[in-house]
Amino acid sequence: MNWNCEYFNPEIETLDRAGIKKLQLERLHNTLEHCMQSEFYRNRFAEAGIKPSDIKNLEDLRKIPFTTKQDLRDTYPFGLRSIPLEDCVRLHSSSGTTGNPTVILHSKRDLEQWANAVARCLWMVGCRPDDVFQNSSGYGMFTGGLGFQYGAELLGMLTVPAAAGNTLRQIKFFTDFGTTVLHAIPSYAARIYEVMCEQGIDPRRDTKLRTLVIGAEPHSEDTRRRIEEMLGVKAYNSFGMSEMCGPGVAFECKEQNGMHIWEDYYIVEIVNPDTLEPVPDGEVGELVLTTINREAMPLLRYRTRDLTRILPGECPCGRHHLRLDRMKGRSDDMIILKGVNIFPIQIEQVLMQFKELASDYLITLETRDNNDTMRVEVEMKNVNLDDYAALQALEKAIRSRLKDEILITPEIRLVPKNSLPKSEGKAVRVKDLRKQY
Ligand code: ADP
Ligand code: ZN
Repeated sequence: MNWNCEYFNPEIETLDRAGIKKLQLERLHNTLEHCMQSEFYRNRFAEAGIKPSDIKNLEDLRKIPFTTKQDLRDTYPFGLRSIPLEDCVRLHSSSGTTGNPTVILHSKRDLEQWANAVARCLWMVGCRPDDVFQNSSGYGMFTGGLGFQYGAELLGMLTVPAAAGNTLRQIKFFTDFGTTVLHAIPSYAARIYEVMCEQGIDPRRDTKLRTLVIGAEPHSEDTRRRIEEMLGVKAYNSFGMSEMCGPGVAFECKEQNGMHIWEDYYIVEIVNPDTLEPVPDGEVGELVLTTINREAMPLLRYRTRDLTRILPGECPCGRHHLRLDRMKGRSDDMIILKGVNIFPIQIEQVLMQFKELASDYLITLETRDNNDTMRVEVEMKNVNLDDYAALQALEKAIRSRLKDEILITPEIRLVPKNSLPKSEGKAVRVKDLRKQY
């Protein structure tokens, strides 16, 4: 492999739009024929009165009914497969943050293709075989562990399966093994920095860290810039989900301007989550994905619940695969308070603009005197908590900026560093204690 080449799969990565569409249609046809091996899709097609041969072009995809998380739950565990179980070699199950677990099966070929997609992403941000890649994801059922492990190994990096937690040990690995690339959830990257500071370790002086891959949870642009500044790295946004294999679905290139989604693996649609009609170009809606490079368990028009938009224009990196904007959150993460729709990321965007504030915050929704209220607790950096007047002024400023953004005036509580609960996996940002009527 030529290390100077910017692309891991040069031919596919630099395909022009016409080339991408041609490949997609070819792969879609194969996928649809193959899906007829699955009882679930055979029935779905019969109910909708369609046959694979009715799908003549990419627009015809819209004739196919959506597949939902509920379908995965209803057919739990193996009902959606399109190959015999004996040809499956691995399964992953989602953590079930929002209900029963769901299972995704993989064949040998699926795992190879998945590793290739991850390697492609890592190569794109400058990883080369002489890098040392440390993965602080949970292993096991969580796809961020094995997903990155196999991708990084395929690329040829020395790969450290550090797994989640034990921050002191993570930091020891950086220094002992010369880690240059780290994969971490954004909330955990900030935590690592705090512990480094406590230990008197300067990431720039004492480690070789250069690249950070952050994903798995929504985070704002300011959060990214903060983390880059703390650790002295370039941080790239990585998007994936168990249903679509895991990591490697969409990833930022060096331009750090939207995440290229690999269109030789997925057909992308953005729909209005209420009407399920396509949104006009460039508008935010729900991401719907069709897998066209998977054999054990292809998913057709899968409703991801993630809200995003397709960024307009060409990327200077030479890849024509569409770019997704930073995720706004999942439709199920949306808070409805007093009839106003609020995404936690909107609150984070405001908080991270205040340099006095650290990275962790918790939004609590409560019913008091029959009134639904929101409290935002946020950790401070090393600030004098005794300077009452200054704290009050800061609280007031945060309250007023939040009011502008979310149209609701929350109670603000500034708390000392490390006083909010920490989780090993994805950060818990919202606690809903409201009375249900
Ligand atoms: P679970 O569904 O149990 O949380 P997954 O690991 O499959 O387990 O989570 C996938 C979800 O994580 C995505 O649907 C999305 O909501 C979120 N996610 C993943 N990557 C990102 C990212 N880069 N930015 C924002 N959200 C992300
Ligand atoms: Zn690019």
